[in-house]
Amino acid sequence: MNKNSIYGLTIEQLTEWLGQHGYKPYRASQVWNYLYRERVTTFSEMVDIKADCIELLTENFTIQTLREHVKQEASDGTVKFLFKLNDGNLIETVLMRHKYGLSVCVTTQVGCNIGCSFCASGLLTKTRDLSSGEIVEQIMNVQHHLDAAGEGEKVSHIVVMGIGEPFDNFENMIDFLKIMIDQKGLAIGSRHITVSTSGIVNKMYEFADVNIPVNLALSLHAPNNELRTKIMKINRAFPVEKLMDAINYYIEKTNRRITIEYILLKDVNDHVEEAVELAALFQDKKKKTYINLIPYNPVDEHSQYQRSDQESVLAFYDTLKKNGINCKIRQEHGTDIDAACGQLRSKQIKKDKDQSITS
Ligand code: SAH
Ligand code: SF4
Repeated sequence: MNKNSIYGLTIEQLTEWLGQHGYKPYRASQVWNYLYRERVTTFSEMVDIKADCIELLTENFTIQTLREHVKQEASDGTVKFLFKLNDGNLIETVLMRHKYGLSVCVTTQVGCNIGCSFCASGLLTKTRDLSSGEIVEQIMNVQHHLDAAGEGEKVSHIVVMGIGEPFDNFENMIDFLKIMIDQKGLAIGSRHITVSTSGIVNKMYEFADVNIPVNLALSLHAPNNELRTKIMKINRAFPVEKLMDAINYYIEKTNRRITIEYILLKDVNDHVEEAVELAALFQDKKKKTYINLIPYNPVDEHSQYQRSDQESVLAFYDTLKKNGINCKIRQEHGTDIDAACGQLRSKQIKKDKDQSITS
């Protein structure tokens, strides 16, 4: 039998499952407490739970399915984990240290089918979606790593910005969010969680309707269709005007602010005229949008793109500011390791292949 990860269940699902097997809801609360508060790594450590229940859990679920394949630590404290899944696939998870806390960037799919022209993750097409358990386990592995260090540190923020398109794995991503914000579990503040999408419009509507109060970020990267289609082929299916309608709906429905991500690519989308166009796009929703200017992380396979020079970055930023747009230049992490999303994974896959050819 192919066992699922226990971490894939929300508290409601765990309570229901145990209920179907004759256990009262307090058993589910106990198991939940062991998983997310005591943070045990084996079922046998759940010492207050009767042997028959432990046996049932062990027979039906796994705990800890991810194996650490590579770990890189940068001088600024960023830690990049490459985990091996049960089926041998590799995924990336990154721990970053900020003044305001510790954030973790999680992966939602093995590869990505959106294939943006600047991204390392899209170099390898999607093999499969991650289960909710595999997404939760990334956070738990990082938290176990912090627990083992004994400094009492806790993951406080999550960005769903690793490999994959979260809105192309919608249900598992929603279960993951529910598990993360559960008050009796890790209890990560929903305002401390950001989900980033390349702009799957129908799912943006659905996300607004689900109304889990986490932050939404949209990877826009260009202010018009001509330019956006050049760098993101998904723009053919979901062009800028459709995105703007979805943004308007999201703001109206949730009354929350939306983050707009904009990678600055030298001589491609970093001219002042694009900044003016971008400012015009958001002129009527200045209070409800925040633009994140992202320095491009060069990817070997995408040598057509370079990082914008400092002068252009500042001119772009100043133009947005002058037009009253909330924006900031994103601080970078782990620049001395393979920092770009999907980069460590694609390099490691090549390395593993080379080794298997030579051995
Ligand atoms: N698929 C989702 C989330 C994962 S990518 C999305 O595209 O939004 C997370 C963010 O990293 C996106 O804004 C993406 O555009 C950005 N990104 C991808 N490759 C990058 C690179 N080489 N340098 C800087 N940012 C990159
Ligand atoms: Fe996929 Fe996001 Fe990379 Fe585009 S930027 S290829 S959507 S992971």
